[in-house]
Amino acid sequence: MGVFGLKKPVCTGTLSVPLCMDCAAPLRRDEIAITKRLIGRGIRQYYCVNCLARRLGVTPTVIRMKIQEYRAMGCALFCTQPDGEGDDSSGTVEPSAADL
Ligand SMILES: [Zn+2]
Repeated sequence: MGVFGLKKPVCTGTLSVPLCMDCAAPLRRDEIAITKRLIGRGIRQYYCVNCLARRLGVTPTVIRMKIQEYRAMGCALFCTQPDGEGDDSSGTVEPSAADL
């Protein structure tokens, strides 16, 4: 007895958000991308900015600058479109009730 007590919940109710291997912080897409970029594309474990910086022996600022750098280069691994940003070209106001 007691075997079933060790069973861990498989589903946590959310989508599979990758976590930092060191501190288990939920990772953003940028952090996953920069880990792939700096450590290797084939890896399946990712680190947050802080832990990645510590592992590489640099400051987190360096990692953040690298993220900006790759994003500026248009690297496909990084999301280039910030979400929540409204497009500024929505100036087309057409009169809908003109015919009525
Ligand atoms: Zn971490």
